[in-house]
Formats: sequence, C-alpha cells, structure tokens
Amino acid sequence: MIIQYLYYAAGIVSGLIGMEFIARLTHKYLMHGILWPIHKDHHIPSGRRFQRNNLFALFFAFISMSLFIASFETKDFIYMSFGIGMLFYGILYLIIHDMIIHNYYLHLRNRKHSRYINKLIEVHELHHINDGRGKGMNWGFLLYIPGIDKTRVDLERINSKKNLDTLKQ
Ligand SMILES: [Zn+2]
Ligand SMILES: [Zn+2]
Repeated sequence: MIIQYLYYAAGIVSGLIGMEFIARLTHKYLMHGILWPIHKDHHIPSGRRFQRNNLFALFFAFISMSLFIASFETKDFIYMSFGIGMLFYGILYLIIHDMIIHNYYLHLRNRKHSRYINKLIEVHELHHINDGRGKGMNWGFLLYIPGIDKTRVDLERINSKKNLDTLKQ
C-alpha cells in the first residue's frame, strides 16, 4: 500500500518538475518559433486584458484534465498523479510568473521575496529584455538552473570577455 502511495507521489513530483522542462522546450522552440503569433502579446502588450498567450496555459490545463479523466476511466491513478503535478505547476506559474514577476492580478511584485524568487524575477526579466526570436535567452519559469539561465552578472562576464577578445584581435 505504502509503495502505491510512493508511486503516486513520484508521479506528482515528476508531473510538477517535468512540466518546467516541457515549458522550457515549448517556450524556446515553439513560442519563440512557429507559435510566436500567440506568444507575442506577452512580450509586446496589445492593450487587451486577455493575452492570447494565456491559450498555452489553457492547453496545458486541458491535458491535465484529460489525465484526470484517463484515471477515472482506467482506475489507474498514475495518470491523475501526473495531472495533479501539472495542476500544481499551473498554480505556481500563476503565482510566480503572473502575479509576482509580471505583477498581474494580485500585484505581488513589490512584496519582500526570498533570494530564490528574486533570482527568478531577474532571470525572467532578462528573457523579456533579450526576447529576440531565435537569439533569446532564459526560457524557464519556476526553476533557476545555473549555467543554463543567465543572470546580470553572467551577462557582464560574457560581455567583458567579448570586449577582451575584440581587443586581442
Ligand atoms: Zn517569451
Ligand atoms: Zn513573462
């Protein structure tokens, strides 16, 4: 029985963490690629209250619900575990990306945040500054991965190295 619970707990955790990597890949290769017309109004506000970009959240909510339904149909709750993980991801995304980083809805941006959240804010802000299609950076939302995600200090280091290289030539 306990093994069964651990199995479902592992499903929830992998749904939650797996979503960050699915979101990163979708963000880099689709949202800033062929699906740019849907993501664009998150970078360049259209003035409308509903961002077309929210369709991505709806799409993932639909998948999460389908996983719940798959569990009711098959009586195997592993699908629902993934769905719950995705649901948690969606809630955290709403709080961290929408309400804290972008200050939407409940306007949580100017509260005191942990160092980790401040890092997420910085990294995502750099995504918005360097949002050029193809040559953008920092595709994640809820995880900061050193070495992959660039901070201001990383960018300064890269730029000063570039300047040194041009001086050497
Ligand atoms: Zn983007
Ligand atoms: Zn954003």
